[in-house]
Amino acid sequence: MLIDLSDVFNLDGKEASWEVPLELKEFHTGGNVYPVVSDEPVKITVQNLGNRKFGLSGETSVTLKIPCARCLKPVEYTCGLTFDEELDMSVSGEGRKEGSEEQAFLSGYQLDADRLVCEGIALELPMRVLCREDCKGLCGKCGKDLNEGPCGCDTASVDPRMARIQDIFNQFKEV
Ligand SMILES: [Zn+2]
Ligand SMILES: [Zn+2]
Repeated sequence: MLIDLSDVFNLDGKEASWEVPLELKEFHTGGNVYPVVSDEPVKITVQNLGNRKFGLSGETSVTLKIPCARCLKPVEYTCGLTFDEELDMSVSGEGRKEGSEEQAFLSGYQLDADRLVCEGIALELPMRVLCREDCKGLCGKCGKDLNEGPCGCDTASVDPRMARIQDIFNQFKEV
């Protein structure tokens, strides 16, 4: 959803707030696609601080369905996002593009709420999501979900060190 900021941008001291629906349906990262399973409206407040500087604040919360890094069971992971940044529009459009990647959600006087949220998720998301802290993962030999019980393979006893190795293995597989 694009938000038109021109009213705020044209008047020093002006402040405006929006509450817009999130249109994002999936989040893409490093070749993975995580569906958005629930979301709240995106609340955004932009304040004109003068001298072509703007304060941006807001919040939302997005729940993604992410496979557990060990057993691949889908996990619903909720990112609580808060935005709080200062935008400096005194830099030319070009300089801004080169200088700071984080303002890619701005295009002219338009703020792309979905893009802002995506950047927030990218910062918020942990390297890996587990269904539970002590998830035993899948047996490396037969693929059985070891949370449901041992499978009888020799390698069945997955100690924490093994689980870590398996995480690394899974990461390579995902790339
Ligand atoms: Zn798991
Ligand atoms: Zn097994």
